[in-house]
Amino acid sequence: MKTVKLRNAQKHCSNWDSGNCMGVMLSSKEGELRVFLDSKKENKPCTADTECKYYDNIIKKIIDSL
Ligand code: SF4
Repeated sequence: MKTVKLRNAQKHCSNWDSGNCMGVMLSSKEGELRVFLDSKKENKPCTADTECKYYDNIIKKIIDSL
């Protein structure tokens, strides 16, 4: 059974792929947007219900703004 966070990730996270994470992460430094693959997350089960900075920093803000 999915937790609320996993259901939110399924609904709102662009990295969600049938329960796994695609691992595409975003960061910014000195005004420059960086996109990179996180090998620790790529093709592994979504960790929104335990620890995911992408969820906390991006998905949660999207949900809060709805
Ligand atoms: S682990 Fe994080 S980034 Fe990956 S699908 Fe889940 S919420 Fe999205």
